[in-house]
Amino acid sequence: MKKGFSDLRTGGGMILPPLHIFHWGAGAPSPPGSYALGLKGVGTGGLGASPPSEKYGGAEVSFRPPPRFATFVLGWFSNLGITAGAHRLWSHKSYSAKLPLRIFLAIIACLSCQNSIYIWCRDHRVHHKFTETDGDPHNAKRGFFFSHMGWLWVKKHPDVIKNGAKLDFSDLMNDPVVFYQHKFYYPLILMISFVLPTVVPYFLWNESLWNAYFVAAVMRLVLTLNITWCVNSAAHMWGYHPYDESIEPAENIAVSFFALGEGWHNYHHVFPFDYRAAELPWKVNPTTQFIDLMHLIGQAYGLKYMSKEAIRSRATKYGDGSIYPRGDKTN
Ligand SMILES: [Zn+2]
Ligand SMILES: [Zn+2]
Repeated sequence: MKKGFSDLRTGGGMILPPLHIFHWGAGAPSPPGSYALGLKGVGTGGLGASPPSEKYGGAEVSFRPPPRFATFVLGWFSNLGITAGAHRLWSHKSYSAKLPLRIFLAIIACLSCQNSIYIWCRDHRVHHKFTETDGDPHNAKRGFFFSHMGWLWVKKHPDVIKNGAKLDFSDLMNDPVVFYQHKFYYPLILMISFVLPTVVPYFLWNESLWNAYFVAAVMRLVLTLNITWCVNSAAHMWGYHPYDESIEPAENIAVSFFALGEGWHNYHHVFPFDYRAAELPWKVNPTTQFIDLMHLIGQAYGLKYMSKEAIRSRATKYGDGSIYPRGDKTN
């Protein structure tokens, strides 16, 4: 039996958070085959919510493996569309992709609602070209909040517009996948990021529409947006500088862990055309492993990367010594 909104708000006579996402599960009955975790729902996107619990009078969120796996995949793909698609493929052209892979990446890029691929790449190319100047759309020198999300709330600095006009983005619009994703962006994100995450859990595992919308669509979106924004904020502030200590972008393992390998930002700003966006293969970097897999099945090709010698040469001259020993920086 499905519960209405008023049922979701009350449980055992006390007011609970509307979606029960911050409710600890001690004592909550678990459906067969589930396993309990404390903060239910958070980090899962709620796609695996079990039928409403009578005990709590609301949407009890369980950890049944199949829907949890589906939720994890959705959240993971939210970021992958940006990291493997908008970023490494279209912004930096660090590899090439065949049409099926480009279409797939363009679709999952819609999950994260970070503007069309064209707009995303335009801003990102300007960011790289004019890093931490007034011409950088999310100039980290203006503080954590500005580089994290504040830049999206205010008018662009005139230098951003002036500098953007100097760059060539014709390659982006010449790709029909980018062109049509831009042209139909709003209907696409409405369907892919909001409607589907709301109705699929409703039909497939009896989730309430209300719970699915706020957790699987909205909360998942808020989490993934903040993860991506940390690349522009945290990874421009905290971490080592093994490849160039004169720039602010840093190697940040926490950002890399959540942002699928995008936190090795000192390396990335020094070698932006390297499809790995990091040097060392053992580092946390699921986006690189995804591209490698696509290469294996023939969907990705022309992977670009720096040679070990070139990396070492650069790092020993300009790095902070955290990976390679400091060398002669006078040459
Ligand atoms: Zn950056
Ligand atoms: Zn980049």
